[in-house]
Amino acid sequence: MTANTSGADCIFCAIARGDIPSEGVYADDHVVAFRDINPQAPAHVLVVPRRHVSSIDALKDDPELLGRIMAAAVTVAQAENLAASGYRLATNHGRDGAQTVPHLHVHVLGGRSLNGRLG
Ligand code: AMP
Repeated sequence: MTANTSGADCIFCAIARGDIPSEGVYADDHVVAFRDINPQAPAHVLVVPRRHVSSIDALKDDPELLGRIMAAAVTVAQAENLAASGYRLATNHGRDGAQTVPHLHVHVLGGRSLNGRLG
C-alpha cells in the first residue's frame, strides 16, 4: 500500500474531484466510477466513494454508503452489459488483500470468463 492515508494527497479523491483525468462511467452525489487504468478484463471499472474512506474495513459503520457503492457497482455492471454473461465485484483491504490504492474502491470486472480462484 502507498503511504498516503488521508484525502489530501489521495489519487482517487483527486479523480473524484475532477482534478486528475479519468474515463468516468458513472457519478452521483456520493459515488463516482471510472475505468481502471490497467484493466484486468475487457470491462474493468472502479467504483469509489467521493469522500475519502481508506478501505472497506473503515466503512462498517456506514451501511448507507456501503449500499450506495454496491448499488452503483451493479448499475455500472448492467450499463456495461455484463449482467447476462456475468461479472465480479471485488474490493481489497490492506497488505495481504493486495490493496495498492488506499481509497476504497470496488472493482467491477467482466467481459470474459474470469478465473474461479479468488486468491
Ligand atoms: P487495488 O490493488 O485493489 O488497490 O486496485 C487499485 C487499482 O487502481 C488498480 O487496478 C490500478 O490499475 C488502478 N489505478 C491506479 N491508478 C489509477 C488511475 N489514475 N486511474 C484509474 N485506475 C487507477
